[in-house]
Amino acid sequence: MRQSMMFSPTLREVPADAEVKSHQLLLRAGFMRQNASGIYSFLPLGLKVLHNVETIIREEMERAGAMELLMPALQPSELWQESGRWYSYGPELMRMKDRHNREFALGATHEEVITTLVRDEVKSYKKLPLTLYQIQTKFRDEKRPRFGLLRGREFLMKDAYSFHASQESLDEIYDRLFQAYSNIFTRCGLNFRAVIADSGAMGGKDTHEFMVLSDIGEDTIAYSDTSSYAANIEMAPVAVNYEKSDEAAKEIEKVSTPDQKSIEDVSRFLNLEAAKCFKSMVFKVDDKLVMVLVRGDHEVNDIKVKNLYGAAVVELASPEEVKELMNCTVGSLGPIGAPKDLEIIADYAVEAIVNGCCGANEEGYHYINVNAGRDYTVSQFADLRFIQEGDPSPDGEGAIRFAQGIEVGHVFKLGTRYSEAMGAAYLDENGKTQPMIMGCYGIGVSRTVAAIAEQYNDEGGLKWPATVAPFAVHVIPVNVKTDVQREKAEDIYAALKKQGYDVLLDDRQERAGVKFADADLFGIPVRITVGKKAEEGIVEVKNRQTNESQEMRVEELSNYIADILK
Ligand code: ATP
Ligand code: MG
Repeated sequence: MRQSMMFSPTLREVPADAEVKSHQLLLRAGFMRQNASGIYSFLPLGLKVLHNVETIIREEMERAGAMELLMPALQPSELWQESGRWYSYGPELMRMKDRHNREFALGATHEEVITTLVRDEVKSYKKLPLTLYQIQTKFRDEKRPRFGLLRGREFLMKDAYSFHASQESLDEIYDRLFQAYSNIFTRCGLNFRAVIADSGAMGGKDTHEFMVLSDIGEDTIAYSDTSSYAANIEMAPVAVNYEKSDEAAKEIEKVSTPDQKSIEDVSRFLNLEAAKCFKSMVFKVDDKLVMVLVRGDHEVNDIKVKNLYGAAVVELASPEEVKELMNCTVGSLGPIGAPKDLEIIADYAVEAIVNGCCGANEEGYHYINVNAGRDYTVSQFADLRFIQEGDPSPDGEGAIRFAQGIEVGHVFKLGTRYSEAMGAAYLDENGKTQPMIMGCYGIGVSRTVAAIAEQYNDEGGLKWPATVAPFAVHVIPVNVKTDVQREKAEDIYAALKKQGYDVLLDDRQERAGVKFADADLFGIPVRITVGKKAEEGIVEVKNRQTNESQEMRVEELSNYIADILK
Protein backbone atom coordinates (compact mmCIF):
# COMPACT_ATOMS: atom_id res chain seq x y z
CA MET A 1 0.00 0.00 0.00
CA ARG A 2 1.21 3.47 -0.89
CA GLN A 3 0.74 6.01 1.84
CA SER A 4 0.02 8.76 -0.68
CA MET A 5 -3.22 6.95 -1.49
CA MET A 6 -4.22 6.15 2.07
CA PHE A 7 -6.86 7.74 4.29
CA SER A 8 -5.31 8.04 7.74
CA PRO A 9 -5.69 11.60 9.03
CA THR A 10 -3.28 11.97 11.96
CA LEU A 11 -3.51 14.55 14.72
CA ARG A 12 -0.59 16.18 16.53
CA GLU A 13 -2.70 17.35 19.46
CA VAL A 14 -4.36 15.09 22.02
CA PRO A 15 -8.15 15.29 21.45
CA ALA A 16 -9.69 17.10 24.42
CA ASP A 17 -12.40 14.60 25.37
CA ALA A 18 -10.31 11.43 25.05
CA GLU A 19 -9.29 10.41 28.57
CA VAL A 20 -7.43 7.16 28.05
CA LYS A 21 -4.37 6.30 25.97
CA SER A 22 -6.08 3.89 23.58
CA HIS A 23 -8.84 6.37 22.79
CA GLN A 24 -6.37 9.25 22.29
CA LEU A 25 -3.98 7.27 20.13
CA LEU A 26 -6.57 5.52 17.95
CA LEU A 27 -7.92 9.00 17.13
CA ARG A 28 -4.52 10.64 16.75
CA ALA A 29 -3.16 7.87 14.52
CA GLY A 30 -6.20 8.14 12.26
CA PHE A 31 -7.48 4.64 13.01
CA MET A 32 -11.00 5.83 13.80
CA ARG A 33 -13.28 8.84 14.17
CA GLN A 34 -16.27 9.50 16.38
CA ASN A 35 -19.64 10.07 14.71
CA ALA A 36 -21.72 10.47 17.85
CA SER A 37 -21.33 9.59 21.52
CA GLY A 38 -20.23 5.95 21.67
CA ILE A 39 -20.48 5.55 17.88
CA TYR A 40 -17.38 5.32 15.68
CA SER A 41 -16.17 4.82 12.13
CA PHE A 42 -13.17 2.57 11.64
CA LEU A 43 -10.81 4.22 9.15
CA PRO A 44 -8.69 1.95 6.91
CA LEU A 45 -5.82 1.35 9.37
CA GLY A 46 -8.20 0.68 12.26
CA LEU A 47 -10.23 -1.64 10.10
CA LYS A 48 -7.12 -3.64 9.22
CA VAL A 49 -6.40 -4.23 12.91
CA LEU A 50 -10.04 -5.12 13.50
CA HIS A 51 -9.92 -7.63 10.65
CA ASN A 52 -6.73 -9.17 12.02
CA VAL A 53 -8.38 -9.68 15.39
CA GLU A 54 -11.43 -11.15 13.65
CA THR A 55 -9.22 -13.56 11.72
CA ILE A 56 -7.62 -14.84 14.92
CA ILE A 57 -11.06 -15.24 16.47
CA ARG A 58 -12.43 -17.11 13.44
CA GLU A 59 -9.44 -19.47 13.32
CA GLU A 60 -9.73 -20.37 17.00
CA MET A 61 -13.52 -20.68 16.94
CA GLU A 62 -13.43 -23.02 13.94
CA ARG A 63 -10.67 -25.01 15.60
CA ALA A 64 -12.95 -25.42 18.64
CA GLY A 65 -15.68 -26.79 16.37
CA ALA A 66 -17.92 -23.72 16.08
CA MET A 67 -19.54 -22.65 12.81
CA GLU A 68 -20.10 -19.08 11.70
CA LEU A 69 -23.49 -17.66 10.74
CA LEU A 70 -24.90 -14.14 10.59
CA MET A 71 -28.10 -13.05 12.28
CA PRO A 72 -30.01 -9.80 11.83
CA ALA A 73 -29.33 -6.71 13.93
CA LEU A 74 -33.00 -5.79 13.70
CA GLN A 75 -35.06 -8.11 15.89
CA PRO A 76 -38.86 -8.24 16.28
CA SER A 77 -40.09 -7.46 19.80
CA GLU A 78 -42.12 -10.70 19.84
CA LEU A 79 -38.89 -12.68 20.33
CA TRP A 80 -37.95 -10.58 23.32
CA GLN A 81 -41.44 -10.91 24.73
CA GLU A 82 -41.19 -14.67 24.49
CA SER A 83 -38.00 -14.70 26.54
CA GLY A 84 -39.39 -12.09 28.94
CA ARG A 85 -36.56 -9.66 28.29
CA TRP A 86 -38.60 -7.05 26.40
CA TYR A 87 -39.57 -5.68 29.83
CA SER A 88 -36.56 -6.66 31.94
CA TYR A 89 -33.73 -5.49 29.69
CA GLY A 90 -34.21 -1.81 30.49
CA PRO A 91 -33.17 1.32 28.62
CA GLU A 92 -29.94 -0.20 27.25
CA LEU A 93 -32.07 -1.99 24.65
CA MET A 94 -32.64 0.32 21.68
CA ARG A 95 -36.25 0.00 20.61
CA MET A 96 -37.98 1.30 17.52
CA LYS A 97 -41.11 0.96 15.40
CA ASP A 98 -41.49 0.19 11.72
CA ARG A 99 -43.96 1.93 9.38
CA HIS A 100 -46.72 -0.47 10.49
CA ASN A 101 -46.13 0.47 14.09
CA ARG A 102 -44.58 -2.92 14.89
CA GLU A 103 -41.96 -2.85 17.60
CA PHE A 104 -38.36 -3.90 17.06
CA ALA A 105 -35.11 -3.86 18.97
CA LEU A 106 -31.62 -3.32 17.66
CA GLY A 107 -29.84 -6.45 18.88
CA ALA A 108 -27.99 -5.94 22.16
CA THR A 109 -27.33 -9.68 22.13
CA HIS A 110 -28.74 -12.63 20.19
CA GLU A 111 -29.99 -15.35 22.58
CA GLU A 112 -33.56 -14.84 21.40
CA VAL A 113 -32.80 -15.04 17.68
CA ILE A 114 -30.48 -18.04 17.91
CA THR A 115 -32.76 -19.97 20.26
CA THR A 116 -35.77 -19.68 17.93
CA LEU A 117 -33.57 -20.47 14.94
CA VAL A 118 -32.27 -23.70 16.45
CA ARG A 119 -35.64 -24.53 18.03
CA ASP A 120 -37.31 -24.54 14.61
CA GLU A 121 -34.66 -26.70 12.93
CA VAL A 122 -33.22 -29.11 15.48
CA LYS A 123 -35.55 -31.75 16.90
CA SER A 124 -33.36 -34.71 17.82
CA TYR A 125 -30.48 -35.43 20.18
CA LYS A 126 -28.65 -36.75 17.12
CA LYS A 127 -28.13 -33.17 15.89
CA LEU A 128 -26.60 -32.06 19.20
CA PRO A 129 -24.25 -30.61 20.33
CA LEU A 130 -24.26 -27.63 18.02
CA THR A 131 -22.06 -24.54 18.39
CA LEU A 132 -22.71 -21.47 16.25
CA TYR A 133 -21.12 -18.03 16.27
CA GLN A 134 -21.24 -14.72 14.49
CA ILE A 135 -19.24 -11.51 14.39
CA GLN A 136 -21.74 -8.75 14.33
CA THR A 137 -22.65 -5.23 15.38
CA LYS A 138 -24.40 -4.87 18.73
CA PHE A 139 -26.34 -1.90 20.01
CA ARG A 140 -26.58 -0.92 23.65
CA ASP A 141 -27.67 2.48 24.81
CA GLU A 142 -25.06 2.58 27.57
CA LYS A 143 -25.60 5.02 30.41
CA ARG A 144 -22.00 6.20 30.18
CA PRO A 145 -20.40 5.49 26.83
CA ARG A 146 -16.73 6.26 27.34
CA PHE A 147 -13.11 5.49 26.65
CA GLY A 148 -13.75 5.27 22.91
CA LEU A 149 -14.15 1.70 21.69
CA LEU A 150 -13.98 0.33 25.22
CA ARG A 151 -17.60 1.24 25.96
CA GLY A 152 -19.50 2.11 22.83
CA ARG A 153 -23.20 2.22 22.04
CA GLU A 154 -22.62 0.48 18.72
CA PHE A 155 -19.82 -2.07 18.84
CA LEU A 156 -18.64 -5.29 17.31
CA MET A 157 -19.10 -8.52 19.20
CA LYS A 158 -18.28 -12.13 18.50
CA ASP A 159 -21.11 -14.07 20.08
CA ALA A 160 -21.35 -17.84 20.16
CA TYR A 161 -24.10 -20.12 21.39
CA SER A 162 -23.98 -23.84 22.06
CA PHE A 163 -26.85 -26.31 22.35
CA HIS A 164 -26.63 -29.62 24.18
CA ALA A 165 -28.47 -32.76 25.16
CA SER A 166 -26.54 -33.13 28.43
CA GLN A 167 -24.70 -31.15 31.06
CA GLU A 168 -21.49 -33.13 30.33
CA SER A 169 -21.64 -32.06 26.72
CA LEU A 170 -22.03 -28.40 27.78
CA ASP A 171 -19.09 -28.78 30.20
CA GLU A 172 -16.94 -30.19 27.41
CA ILE A 173 -17.70 -27.41 24.90
CA TYR A 174 -17.38 -24.78 27.63
CA ASP A 175 -13.86 -26.02 28.39
CA ARG A 176 -13.02 -26.09 24.70
CA LEU A 177 -14.20 -22.52 24.16
CA PHE A 178 -12.47 -21.42 27.35
CA GLN A 179 -9.27 -22.73 25.78
CA ALA A 180 -10.09 -21.04 22.46
CA TYR A 181 -10.50 -17.72 24.29
CA SER A 182 -7.15 -18.15 26.01
CA ASN A 183 -5.58 -18.82 22.62
CA ILE A 184 -7.27 -15.78 21.05
CA PHE A 185 -6.16 -13.31 23.70
CA THR A 186 -2.67 -14.81 23.84
CA ARG A 187 -2.33 -14.45 20.07
CA CYS A 188 -3.50 -10.82 20.37
CA GLY A 189 -0.51 -10.28 22.67
CA LEU A 190 -2.70 -9.38 25.66
CA ASN A 191 -1.76 -9.67 29.30
CA PHE A 192 -5.02 -11.12 30.60
CA ARG A 193 -6.53 -13.32 33.24
CA ALA A 194 -9.65 -15.52 33.29
CA VAL A 195 -11.67 -14.77 36.42
CA ILE A 196 -14.76 -16.25 38.06
CA ALA A 197 -17.69 -13.96 37.31
CA ASP A 198 -21.25 -13.21 38.34
CA SER A 199 -23.99 -14.77 36.28
CA GLY A 200 -26.10 -11.61 36.55
CA ALA A 201 -29.34 -11.05 34.70
CA MET A 202 -28.56 -13.80 32.18
CA GLY A 203 -29.43 -16.41 34.75
CA GLY A 204 -27.00 -19.29 34.86
CA LYS A 205 -24.21 -20.57 37.05
CA ASP A 206 -20.73 -21.38 35.77
CA THR A 207 -19.22 -18.29 34.19
CA HIS A 208 -15.80 -16.74 33.59
CA GLU A 209 -14.72 -13.35 32.34
CA PHE A 210 -11.49 -12.72 30.45
CA MET A 211 -9.92 -9.59 31.86
CA VAL A 212 -7.12 -7.58 30.31
CA LEU A 213 -5.04 -6.18 33.15
CA SER A 214 -5.03 -2.40 33.00
CA ASP A 215 -5.24 0.46 35.48
CA ILE A 216 -8.11 1.99 33.54
CA GLY A 217 -10.19 -1.21 33.71
CA GLU A 218 -13.67 -0.71 35.15
CA ASP A 219 -13.72 -4.10 36.82
CA THR A 220 -11.81 -5.01 39.96
CA ILE A 221 -10.24 -8.46 40.10
CA ALA A 222 -9.68 -10.07 43.47
CA TYR A 223 -6.82 -12.54 43.20
CA SER A 224 -4.82 -14.61 45.61
CA ASP A 225 -1.20 -13.61 46.15
CA THR A 226 -0.18 -17.28 46.29
CA SER A 227 -2.67 -19.45 44.37
CA SER A 228 -4.30 -19.14 40.92
CA TYR A 229 -7.60 -17.98 42.43
CA ALA A 230 -9.03 -14.92 40.66
CA ALA A 231 -12.59 -13.60 40.66
CA ASN A 232 -14.47 -10.50 39.74
CA ILE A 233 -14.78 -8.60 43.03
CA GLU A 234 -18.56 -8.73 42.58
CA MET A 235 -18.39 -12.49 42.99
CA ALA A 236 -15.60 -13.24 45.44
CA PRO A 237 -17.06 -14.81 48.58
CA VAL A 238 -15.67 -13.63 51.91
CA ALA A 239 -14.23 -16.53 53.87
CA VAL A 240 -13.63 -14.92 57.27
CA ASN A 241 -14.71 -16.49 60.55
CA TYR A 242 -15.56 -13.48 62.68
CA GLU A 243 -14.94 -14.03 66.35
CA LYS A 244 -17.31 -12.51 68.84
CA SER A 245 -15.50 -10.86 71.75
CA ASP A 246 -16.43 -12.04 75.23
CA GLU A 247 -17.08 -8.46 76.35
CA ALA A 248 -20.31 -8.25 78.40
CA ALA A 249 -23.32 -6.57 76.80
CA LYS A 250 -23.83 -3.08 78.18
CA GLU A 251 -26.98 -1.04 78.40
CA ILE A 252 -28.02 0.64 75.15
CA GLU A 253 -27.67 4.42 75.13
CA LYS A 254 -28.67 7.21 72.76
CA VAL A 255 -25.86 9.74 72.35
CA SER A 256 -25.67 13.11 70.67
CA THR A 257 -23.40 13.19 67.62
CA PRO A 258 -23.95 16.66 66.12
CA ASP A 259 -22.74 17.09 62.53
CA GLN A 260 -21.02 13.67 62.53
CA LYS A 261 -21.93 12.28 59.13
CA SER A 262 -19.62 9.52 57.96
CA ILE A 263 -18.58 6.40 59.85
CA GLU A 264 -15.08 7.92 60.17
CA ASP A 265 -16.57 11.09 61.74
CA VAL A 266 -18.69 9.13 64.20
CA SER A 267 -15.96 6.70 65.18
CA ARG A 268 -13.52 9.57 65.79
CA PHE A 269 -16.13 11.59 67.72
CA LEU A 270 -17.12 8.65 69.94
CA ASN A 271 -13.62 7.21 70.07
CA LEU A 272 -14.84 3.86 68.75
CA GLU A 273 -13.23 1.69 66.07
CA ALA A 274 -15.06 1.71 62.73
CA ALA A 275 -15.29 -2.08 63.12
CA LYS A 276 -17.56 -1.51 66.14
CA CYS A 277 -19.95 0.65 64.13
CA PHE A 278 -22.28 -0.65 61.50
CA LYS A 279 -23.83 0.99 58.45
CA SER A 280 -27.50 0.67 57.65
CA MET A 281 -28.70 1.09 54.09
CA VAL A 282 -32.06 0.63 52.47
CA PHE A 283 -32.12 -1.13 49.11
CA LYS A 284 -34.90 -1.67 46.67
CA VAL A 285 -34.82 -5.37 45.81
CA ASP A 286 -37.05 -5.58 42.72
CA ASP A 287 -40.00 -3.74 44.31
CA LYS A 288 -39.43 -4.58 47.95
CA LEU A 289 -37.52 -2.36 50.41
CA VAL A 290 -34.90 -4.17 52.52
CA MET A 291 -32.47 -2.83 55.13
CA VAL A 292 -28.91 -4.13 54.80
CA LEU A 293 -26.35 -3.86 57.60
CA VAL A 294 -22.58 -4.13 57.19
CA ARG A 295 -19.70 -3.33 59.50
CA GLY A 296 -18.41 0.26 59.41
CA ASP A 297 -15.17 -0.68 57.67
CA HIS A 298 -16.94 -2.82 55.03
CA GLU A 299 -18.98 -2.05 51.90
CA VAL A 300 -22.26 -3.64 50.84
CA ASN A 301 -21.93 -5.80 47.73
CA ASP A 302 -25.27 -5.25 45.99
CA ILE A 303 -24.67 -8.25 43.70
CA LYS A 304 -24.62 -10.51 46.76
CA VAL A 305 -27.88 -8.92 47.93
CA LYS A 306 -29.32 -9.50 44.50
CA ASN A 307 -28.22 -13.13 44.43
CA LEU A 308 -29.52 -13.75 47.97
CA TYR A 309 -33.01 -12.78 46.81
CA GLY A 310 -32.66 -14.08 43.25
CA ALA A 311 -33.79 -10.59 42.25
CA ALA A 312 -33.56 -8.98 38.82
CA VAL A 313 -32.69 -5.46 39.99
CA VAL A 314 -31.18 -4.16 43.22
CA GLU A 315 -30.62 -0.46 43.73
CA LEU A 316 -30.27 1.95 46.64
CA ALA A 317 -33.59 3.36 47.78
CA SER A 318 -33.94 7.06 47.01
CA PRO A 319 -33.75 9.65 49.84
CA GLU A 320 -37.50 10.20 49.34
CA GLU A 321 -38.26 6.50 49.75
CA VAL A 322 -36.10 6.37 52.89
CA LYS A 323 -37.84 9.46 54.28
CA GLU A 324 -41.25 7.89 53.72
CA LEU A 325 -40.21 4.57 55.25
CA MET A 326 -38.16 5.70 58.25
CA ASN A 327 -38.96 9.39 58.55
CA CYS A 328 -35.25 10.29 58.55
CA THR A 329 -32.38 11.01 56.19
CA VAL A 330 -30.19 8.35 54.59
CA GLY A 331 -27.27 9.39 56.84
CA SER A 332 -29.11 8.71 60.11
CA LEU A 333 -30.44 5.25 59.32
CA GLY A 334 -30.37 2.41 61.84
CA PRO A 335 -32.33 -0.79 62.51
CA ILE A 336 -33.72 0.19 65.93
CA GLY A 337 -37.33 1.24 65.70
CA ALA A 338 -37.65 0.24 62.04
CA PRO A 339 -41.18 -0.67 60.88
CA LYS A 340 -42.10 -4.24 61.89
CA ASP A 341 -42.62 -5.38 58.31
CA LEU A 342 -39.24 -4.08 57.08
CA GLU A 343 -36.94 -7.02 56.45
CA ILE A 344 -33.44 -6.51 57.89
CA ILE A 345 -30.53 -8.59 56.65
CA ALA A 346 -26.94 -8.27 57.82
CA ASP A 347 -23.45 -9.35 56.89
CA TYR A 348 -21.90 -12.08 59.06
CA ALA A 349 -19.45 -9.54 60.47
CA VAL A 350 -22.31 -7.60 62.08
CA GLU A 351 -23.36 -10.71 64.03
CA ALA A 352 -20.03 -10.64 65.85
CA ILE A 353 -20.25 -6.99 66.97
CA VAL A 354 -20.75 -6.60 70.73
CA ASN A 355 -21.80 -3.18 72.02
CA GLY A 356 -21.88 -1.65 68.58
CA CYS A 357 -22.88 1.76 67.32
CA CYS A 358 -25.47 2.71 64.70
CA GLY A 359 -27.65 5.56 63.49
CA ALA A 360 -30.74 6.43 65.58
CA ASN A 361 -33.04 7.38 62.69
CA GLU A 362 -32.77 10.91 63.98
CA GLU A 363 -30.49 13.68 62.74
CA GLY A 364 -27.52 14.17 65.11
CA TYR A 365 -27.97 11.04 67.25
CA HIS A 366 -26.51 7.55 67.41
CA TYR A 367 -27.08 4.52 69.60
CA ILE A 368 -24.15 2.90 71.35
CA ASN A 369 -23.93 -0.49 73.10
CA VAL A 370 -26.22 -1.94 70.48
CA ASN A 371 -26.52 -5.73 70.30
CA ALA A 372 -28.21 -7.80 67.63
CA GLY A 373 -31.09 -9.94 68.89
CA ARG A 374 -31.63 -7.82 71.98
CA ASP A 375 -32.02 -4.38 70.37
CA TYR A 376 -33.02 -5.25 66.81
CA THR A 377 -33.95 -8.33 64.84
CA VAL A 378 -32.13 -9.58 61.78
CA SER A 379 -34.05 -12.00 59.59
CA GLN A 380 -30.92 -13.41 57.98
CA PHE A 381 -27.14 -13.14 58.35
CA ALA A 382 -25.26 -13.76 55.09
CA ASP A 383 -22.12 -12.89 53.17
CA LEU A 384 -23.12 -9.46 51.90
CA ARG A 385 -19.95 -7.42 51.70
CA PHE A 386 -17.20 -6.85 49.16
CA ILE A 387 -14.01 -8.75 49.76
CA GLN A 388 -11.09 -6.47 50.71
CA GLU A 389 -7.35 -6.54 50.11
CA GLY A 390 -5.74 -8.58 52.84
CA ASP A 391 -8.78 -10.83 53.39
CA PRO A 392 -7.97 -14.54 53.15
CA SER A 393 -8.39 -15.94 49.64
CA PRO A 394 -11.65 -17.92 49.32
CA ASP A 395 -9.71 -21.00 48.20
CA GLY A 396 -7.88 -20.97 51.52
CA GLU A 397 -4.50 -20.12 49.99
CA GLY A 398 -2.88 -16.76 50.56
CA ALA A 399 -4.34 -13.29 50.86
CA ILE A 400 -6.42 -11.22 48.46
CA ARG A 401 -4.89 -8.51 46.27
CA PHE A 402 -6.71 -6.28 43.79
CA ALA A 403 -6.03 -5.46 40.13
CA GLN A 404 -8.10 -3.57 37.57
CA GLY A 405 -9.28 -5.29 34.41
CA ILE A 406 -11.01 -4.61 31.10
CA GLU A 407 -13.52 -7.37 30.32
CA VAL A 408 -12.83 -8.53 26.77
CA GLY A 409 -14.59 -11.88 26.86
CA HIS A 410 -17.22 -13.79 28.75
CA VAL A 411 -18.08 -17.51 28.72
CA PHE A 412 -21.28 -18.60 30.32
CA LYS A 413 -23.26 -21.76 31.07
CA LEU A 414 -26.81 -20.63 30.44
CA GLY A 415 -28.59 -23.89 31.19
CA THR A 416 -32.21 -23.94 30.08
CA ARG A 417 -33.12 -20.30 30.78
CA TYR A 418 -33.90 -19.55 27.11
CA SER A 419 -34.78 -22.98 25.80
CA GLU A 420 -37.53 -23.36 28.41
CA ALA A 421 -38.92 -19.87 27.92
CA MET A 422 -38.88 -20.23 24.14
CA GLY A 423 -39.70 -23.91 23.80
CA ALA A 424 -36.41 -25.11 22.31
CA ALA A 425 -36.72 -28.85 22.92
CA TYR A 426 -35.37 -32.05 21.40
CA LEU A 427 -36.34 -35.71 21.53
CA ASP A 428 -33.89 -37.79 23.55
CA GLU A 429 -32.89 -41.42 22.90
CA ASN A 430 -36.10 -42.63 24.57
CA GLY A 431 -38.27 -40.34 22.48
CA LYS A 432 -38.85 -38.05 25.43
CA THR A 433 -39.02 -34.24 25.00
CA GLN A 434 -36.24 -32.34 26.82
CA PRO A 435 -35.25 -28.68 26.88
CA MET A 436 -31.90 -27.99 25.22
CA ILE A 437 -29.06 -27.02 27.52
CA MET A 438 -27.25 -23.90 26.35
CA GLY A 439 -24.01 -22.01 26.69
CA CYS A 440 -23.12 -18.55 25.40
CA TYR A 441 -19.74 -16.99 24.74
CA GLY A 442 -18.97 -13.35 23.89
CA ILE A 443 -15.92 -11.38 22.85
CA GLY A 444 -15.91 -7.61 22.50
CA VAL A 445 -14.06 -7.46 19.19
CA SER A 446 -13.81 -3.67 18.95
CA ARG A 447 -13.11 -3.50 22.69
CA THR A 448 -10.26 -5.99 22.20
CA VAL A 449 -8.67 -3.66 19.61
CA ALA A 450 -8.76 -0.83 22.16
CA ALA A 451 -7.47 -3.10 24.93
CA ILE A 452 -4.46 -4.03 22.78
CA ALA A 453 -3.83 -0.32 22.08
CA GLU A 454 -4.11 0.32 25.81
CA GLN A 455 -1.37 -2.22 26.57
CA TYR A 456 0.89 -1.41 23.62
CA ASN A 457 1.86 2.24 23.31
CA ASP A 458 4.41 4.87 24.28
CA GLU A 459 4.65 8.67 24.09
CA GLY A 460 5.15 8.47 20.34
CA GLY A 461 2.13 6.36 19.55
CA LEU A 462 0.94 2.79 19.12
CA LYS A 463 3.12 -0.32 19.13
CA TRP A 464 1.06 -3.14 17.63
CA PRO A 465 2.01 -6.76 18.23
CA ALA A 466 2.90 -8.31 14.87
CA THR A 467 -0.14 -10.62 14.98
CA VAL A 468 -2.64 -7.75 14.71
CA ALA A 469 -0.58 -4.86 13.26
CA PRO A 470 -2.17 -3.01 10.32
CA PHE A 471 0.98 -3.64 8.26
CA ALA A 472 4.05 -5.75 8.95
CA VAL A 473 6.65 -3.35 7.57
CA HIS A 474 6.77 0.42 7.04
CA VAL A 475 9.25 1.60 4.41
CA ILE A 476 10.15 5.28 4.61
CA PRO A 477 12.35 7.03 2.05
CA VAL A 478 13.57 10.14 3.88
CA ASN A 479 13.49 12.24 0.75
CA VAL A 480 11.50 11.01 -2.24
CA LYS A 481 12.99 13.73 -4.41
CA THR A 482 16.34 11.99 -4.19
CA ASP A 483 16.28 9.37 -6.95
CA VAL A 484 18.52 6.86 -5.16
CA GLN A 485 16.40 6.93 -2.01
CA ARG A 486 13.12 6.73 -3.87
CA GLU A 487 14.28 3.89 -6.10
CA LYS A 488 15.88 1.92 -3.28
CA ALA A 489 12.71 2.26 -1.22
CA GLU A 490 10.60 1.11 -4.18
CA ASP A 491 12.90 -1.91 -4.65
CA ILE A 492 12.63 -2.90 -0.98
CA TYR A 493 8.86 -2.38 -1.06
CA ALA A 494 8.49 -4.63 -4.12
CA ALA A 495 10.85 -7.29 -2.77
CA LEU A 496 9.16 -7.53 0.63
CA LYS A 497 5.72 -7.68 -0.92
CA LYS A 498 6.94 -10.50 -3.10
CA GLN A 499 8.02 -12.30 0.06
CA GLY A 500 4.44 -12.07 1.26
CA TYR A 501 4.68 -9.21 3.74
CA ASP A 502 2.01 -6.56 4.07
CA VAL A 503 4.07 -3.41 3.46
CA LEU A 504 3.29 0.30 3.68
CA LEU A 505 5.47 2.64 1.62
CA ASP A 506 5.57 6.28 2.69
CA ASP A 507 5.88 7.74 -0.80
CA ARG A 508 4.57 11.15 0.29
CA GLN A 509 6.50 14.34 -0.34
CA GLU A 510 6.53 15.25 3.34
CA ARG A 511 9.32 16.39 5.65
CA ALA A 512 11.16 13.55 7.36
CA GLY A 513 9.93 14.76 10.77
CA VAL A 514 6.30 14.46 9.69
CA LYS A 515 6.86 11.00 8.26
CA PHE A 516 8.58 9.73 11.41
CA ALA A 517 5.93 11.20 13.71
CA ASP A 518 3.17 9.55 11.67
CA ALA A 519 5.09 6.28 11.61
CA ASP A 520 5.42 6.33 15.40
CA LEU A 521 1.69 6.94 15.73
CA PHE A 522 0.81 4.04 13.40
CA GLY A 523 3.02 1.63 15.33
CA ILE A 524 3.89 -0.81 12.53
CA PRO A 525 6.31 -3.40 14.00
CA VAL A 526 9.25 -2.95 11.57
CA ARG A 527 10.32 0.39 10.14
CA ILE A 528 12.88 0.66 7.37
CA THR A 529 14.27 4.14 6.80
CA VAL A 530 15.97 4.70 3.46
CA GLY A 531 18.27 7.72 3.80
CA LYS A 532 21.66 9.03 2.73
CA LYS A 533 23.42 5.67 2.96
CA ALA A 534 21.04 4.18 0.40
CA GLU A 535 23.79 4.68 -2.19
CA GLU A 536 25.98 2.22 -0.26
CA GLY A 537 23.09 -0.23 0.08
CA ILE A 538 22.64 0.55 3.78
CA VAL A 539 19.30 1.34 5.49
CA GLU A 540 18.18 1.87 9.07
CA VAL A 541 15.73 -0.55 10.66
CA LYS A 542 13.76 0.04 13.80
CA ASN A 543 11.88 -2.42 15.98
CA ARG A 544 8.82 -0.47 17.14
CA GLN A 545 8.30 -2.72 20.19
CA THR A 546 11.74 -1.94 21.63
CA ASN A 547 12.45 1.26 19.68
CA GLU A 548 15.93 -0.11 18.94
CA SER A 549 17.41 0.99 15.64
CA GLN A 550 20.33 -0.36 13.69
CA GLU A 551 21.88 0.03 10.29
CA MET A 552 22.11 -2.95 8.01
CA ARG A 553 22.69 -3.95 4.44
CA VAL A 554 19.59 -4.40 2.32
CA GLU A 555 20.43 -8.09 1.81
CA GLU A 556 20.19 -8.66 5.58
CA LEU A 557 16.63 -7.28 5.82
CA SER A 558 14.79 -10.53 5.15
CA ASN A 559 16.32 -12.39 8.05
CA TYR A 560 15.93 -9.47 10.42
CA ILE A 561 12.24 -8.97 9.55
CA ALA A 562 11.43 -12.67 9.72
CA ASP A 563 13.01 -12.73 13.16
CA ILE A 564 11.03 -9.75 14.52
CA LEU A 565 7.71 -10.89 13.08
CA LYS A 566 7.91 -14.54 14.09
P1 ATP B 1 -19.77 -4.78 30.66
O1 ATP B 1 -19.82 -5.31 32.06
O2 ATP B 1 -18.43 -4.24 30.28
O3 ATP B 1 -20.90 -3.85 30.34
P2 ATP B 1 -21.28 -6.98 29.69
O4 ATP B 1 -21.26 -7.89 30.84
O5 ATP B 1 -22.46 -6.13 29.46
O6 ATP B 1 -19.96 -6.05 29.72
P3 ATP B 1 -21.61 -9.10 27.74
O7 ATP B 1 -23.06 -8.90 27.62
O8 ATP B 1 -21.10 -10.32 28.38
O9 ATP B 1 -20.92 -7.80 28.37
O10 ATP B 1 -20.98 -8.95 26.27
C1 ATP B 1 -19.90 -9.72 25.78
C2 ATP B 1 -18.68 -8.86 25.52
O11 ATP B 1 -18.99 -7.71 24.74
C3 ATP B 1 -18.05 -8.30 26.78
O12 ATP B 1 -17.19 -9.24 27.36
C4 ATP B 1 -17.31 -7.08 26.26
O13 ATP B 1 -16.02 -7.46 25.82
C5 ATP B 1 -18.14 -6.64 25.08
N1 ATP B 1 -18.94 -5.44 25.40
C6 ATP B 1 -20.01 -5.35 26.20
N2 ATP B 1 -20.50 -4.11 26.24
C7 ATP B 1 -19.72 -3.36 25.40
C8 ATP B 1 -19.71 -2.00 25.00
N3 ATP B 1 -20.62 -1.15 25.44
N4 ATP B 1 -18.74 -1.58 24.13
C9 ATP B 1 -17.82 -2.45 23.66
N5 ATP B 1 -17.77 -3.75 24.01
C10 ATP B 1 -18.70 -4.21 24.87
MG1 MG C 1 -22.90 -4.13 29.98
